[in-house]
Amino acid sequence: MLPVGLGMTRETAHKVAAGRGAGFALPGGATIRIINTLGSQVVATWAFPQPLNGEYMSMEHTRIHAKNSRPQAGTVFYTNRHRPVLEMTVDSSPRVHDWYLAACNQQRYELLGHEGPHASCEDNLHDALAAFDHQLAIVPCPLNLFENVSFMFGAPMEIKSPVSMPGDDVYLRAHLDCVVVLSSCPQDILETNGPDRTPSDIEVEVTLPA
Ligand SMILES: [Zn+2]
Repeated sequence: MLPVGLGMTRETAHKVAAGRGAGFALPGGATIRIINTLGSQVVATWAFPQPLNGEYMSMEHTRIHAKNSRPQAGTVFYTNRHRPVLEMTVDSSPRVHDWYLAACNQQRYELLGHEGPHASCEDNLHDALAAFDHQLAIVPCPLNLFENVSFMFGAPMEIKSPVSMPGDDVYLRAHLDCVVVLSSCPQDILETNGPDRTPSDIEVEVTLPA
């Protein structure tokens, strides 16, 4: 998938294939809409202000400002330098998202018993940023849209199937020029992406500022 940049049509539609990732260059004021086509897909989401220089959307820094236990419409996401980079302006889903869990990677799948290479959100992120000639020294914690992680004080943390419905969507508005990376999580061992453990395509719309 080609990055989206200035000079293109005002609104563009894209598809991120099941288990794959893509990067989108957004000018400040642009909005990216992430549509959970089948309703059961978790979407790992990152943002990196332009120019790419080590600054990244940080869940740890965001939680300081959000003063909330989970993201929701109105949440502003901050970078590791405490600058607002994205804002969730609309959320038609049941508002169940995660911002605590690390992205899946090769080692995670091996620990779950998988043998051999396995696609991962971490690899999808690296591949997407390679299209922008950028390499990450660390992988930030993603915003895991639609991921249903139960945290109950004194009880074990549990990853459950998403409660979102087909067509549920989230709008993220860019406060800064940035690259947003989306990964349709390839998790097919746990119920992260539903009881059938099958990743699915997601649809994306980018609207540039007038
Ligand atoms: Zn993943």
